[in-house]
Amino acid sequence: IKWTEGRGWHDAQLTPYAPLSIDPANMTLHYAQEIFEGLKAYRRPDGSVSLFRPEANAERFRLSARRLAMPELPVETFVAACDALVRQDEAWVPPHGGEESLYLRPFMIANEVGLGVRPANEYLFLVIASPAGAYFPGGVKPVSVWLSENYVRAVPGGMGFAKTGGNYAASLLAQAEAAAKGCDQVVWLDALEHRWVEEMGGMNLYFVYGNKIVTPELTGSLLAGITRDSLLRVARDLGYESAEGRISTDQWRRDAQDGTLTEVFACGTAAVITPVGTVKSEKGDWAQGDGRPGAVTLELRKALLDIQTGAAPDPHGWTHRVV
Ligand code: PMP
Repeated sequence: IKWTEGRGWHDAQLTPYAPLSIDPANMTLHYAQEIFEGLKAYRRPDGSVSLFRPEANAERFRLSARRLAMPELPVETFVAACDALVRQDEAWVPPHGGEESLYLRPFMIANEVGLGVRPANEYLFLVIASPAGAYFPGGVKPVSVWLSENYVRAVPGGMGFAKTGGNYAASLLAQAEAAAKGCDQVVWLDALEHRWVEEMGGMNLYFVYGNKIVTPELTGSLLAGITRDSLLRVARDLGYESAEGRISTDQWRRDAQDGTLTEVFACGTAAVITPVGTVKSEKGDWAQGDGRPGAVTLELRKALLDIQTGAAPDPHGWTHRVV
């Protein structure tokens, strides 16, 4: 779908997957006015296909657009575009029963030619699809994390709450640093004090204190994950207390060592939930748990995945049937 100043959204098209032809002076290539989303279509037991909370992705896309000075795509148009692609590609949605899905990647780029730094007058919204396998083909395994004290992902007043490529560009060197330290993922801390836990690579974090689960509050510099939001409610349905709060790295270390912090997990569309095991940092390392996924982590993972795949009822009306 195209957007042109003065004309708005126009010319929606469903076309075969093919390379885009981009002018070398396309403004996106130079000034990174780009936003995206990620969501999954799952096959349900009755053979139908549904998306999980696509309206939430559409709303976040609008917030991202506003922050990047891009036009806002109406929620209905975003969802209708996802629906149209899933219908077209229905054969690629894997059978019910596993964790496989059809992953959708809606995105928007500036589509104007020019080298002046200003918001573009033309944009392109596209959705592509790709079959996605299970995140943990060999069974759920804890990841090791590196607390990034040398780099920050986002600053107050910046773009951390937006899903824009620049945030991910800013994360690549820290991800490489994490890998060099033998860790699977980076954990981002706040920009001012390098003390408060924000999020992990492409996932939000949760801290399990017995019957209570706590996730870092939305400060504006971390992404408001849809999985994170869903888990606040799913956990409550299962009898846990769930809350948003502030967790410092000192608290994480202390509570992990004295055993009050029983589990830590990360959550996002890709993995649903992944347990966090070893934690490494410049100030020392510690073990979170005993190297196996915790019981609460696994219970919440199954409960949410069952709603997403239709294996369990959806009391919140989160599933959006497409086919
Ligand atoms: N944080 C970041 C930086 C992410 O890229 C993602 C993945 N979209 C998340 C958190 C989790 O968000 P969601 O649950 O909406 O996938």
